[in-house]
Amino acid sequence: MQQPHNFKPLDETLTNRYDRQIRLAQIGLAGQTTLANSHALIVGLGGLGSPASLYLAAAGVGQLTLVDFDVVEETNLQRQIVHRQQTVGMSKVESAKQTLAAVNPHITINAINAFLSPEKLFELCQQADVVVDCTDNGFSRTAINEAAMMAGKPLVSAAAIRWEGQLSVFDGRDLNAPCYLCFDPHANQGGETCDAQGIVAPVVGTLGVMQALETLKVLLGNASLIGEVLLFDGLSMSQRRFKLTQDPDCPVCAARKQRNNH
Ligand SMILES: [Zn+2]
Repeated sequence: MQQPHNFKPLDETLTNRYDRQIRLAQIGLAGQTTLANSHALIVGLGGLGSPASLYLAAAGVGQLTLVDFDVVEETNLQRQIVHRQQTVGMSKVESAKQTLAAVNPHITINAINAFLSPEKLFELCQQADVVVDCTDNGFSRTAINEAAMMAGKPLVSAAAIRWEGQLSVFDGRDLNAPCYLCFDPHANQGGETCDAQGIVAPVVGTLGVMQALETLKVLLGNASLIGEVLLFDGLSMSQRRFKLTQDPDCPVCAARKQRNNH
């Protein structure tokens, strides 16, 4: 991974905290330092964003920007484990920030309680090293995909409903890689939601945890699911994966190629 000019060495007092990661050959002190200097944009602090943000905070990703426009409701608590009974009625980003700061006070957490315009979303994607889509509907996924691809950033995207889920990485740094819209050209029609269809808590939790894992690997430079989709079925406890190719008719991929040519 290319190191930015303001790359700081890891604070020595934190090597004990991250010892079990630093011991790994694929991470080490260099990898942990990369994580400490990384910035993840997490959109959606619900069933996916709860475990994803908890693990990214605990693992020591130095800066997290949390985006959501919702408030915590009682029906969220069954699966949105970053929130608490006491934070019902509070904005999800503020509720999540409190929990994450208690888990790891050594990282920077920005909370944005708003429904973002495409321009603002693009600006936030530009500032991040990785975009983590933890939203629950096709409209948001379409908007986040376009912003991340146009900003040239990797996008770690997950979804879960009922007993099943999917996970993929769309690499905005590679003009020939498929994007979310290549995978699902009809995503902007909205699709099914957990509110209507139901969701098993540990299933969305599993997907959120795997999303955090793949996000760490994107930051460390060894992601596995770039241009691939992993499908997880929690009822039969099975998974399979398949490769994607770029859709020659994808308007987002056409636009980002055109942008790069100018
Ligand atoms: Zn595309």
